[in-house]
Amino acid sequence: MSDLVLENIDLYYHRVHALRDLSLTVREGEIVSLLGNNGAGKTSTLSMISGLVRAKTGRARWGDHDLLRMQPWDAVGAGLLHIPEGRRIFSTMTVHENLLLGGYLVKDQKVIARRAEEAYELMPRLAERRGQQGGTLSGGEQQMLALGRALVGGPKLLLLDEPSMGLAPLIAKQVMEIVQRVNAQGTTVLLVEQNARAALKIAHRGYVLESGRVTMQGSAAELAADPRVIEAYLGA
Ligand code: ATP
Repeated sequence: MSDLVLENIDLYYHRVHALRDLSLTVREGEIVSLLGNNGAGKTSTLSMISGLVRAKTGRARWGDHDLLRMQPWDAVGAGLLHIPEGRRIFSTMTVHENLLLGGYLVKDQKVIARRAEEAYELMPRLAERRGQQGGTLSGGEQQMLALGRALVGGPKLLLLDEPSMGLAPLIAKQVMEIVQRVNAQGTTVLLVEQNARAALKIAHRGYVLESGRVTMQGSAAELAADPRVIEAYLGA
């Protein structure tokens, strides 16, 4: 099984101790949500997994891969895709060109074309805007495009940073439903969300980070019912 297992991770940015003895597991097939306030270490956790920053100590494995030794591009080739906050689509390229770029490490053009069509089926709004420049899309559509581009890469494990950031509630809900469908089709998801309510709705399990440490963990239902989580992250 290609579970993601982080053990006793410590990560520093010079003197800033961003992750402290962090351990967490994402089992193959799960959606796991990371909750926490600004600066808690959520983005750092994703960046460490995808190899953009390096942990000082600890172990990070994904199936047979040692993530602390793996180069980010090799991770992408193996199906570990990270959609950072802010989406970063190419604004002067069309929706379709953006989608195809997601297949830059996929050799078979037919596979790329098929996955692009699957992305359009999942997100018909993108199909309607196929020839439109990325920069002219709404925030929600840009998030869908970022997801679609990752899907063309054939993700096995998807790291998603704040997909509902800045979106109107209804659009955010649609994006979360798409994430849920992507998961149902076989992609494991590690989801960072400020909107804890929305995240716990689609997640199987979750972890709460505070100042770089895991302070709570459990099933999504357990966390959603925990008075500390309700007070700190779900509002009264
Ligand atoms: P946010 O939701 O605001 O992105 P977060 O939970 O994702 O917060 P991180 O971005 O992982 O938190 O930040 C964790 C800690 O590391 C914070 O104290 C932050 O200031 C610090 N940090 C993050 N990136 C850097 C960097 N490149 N250089 C120095 N410190 C950093």
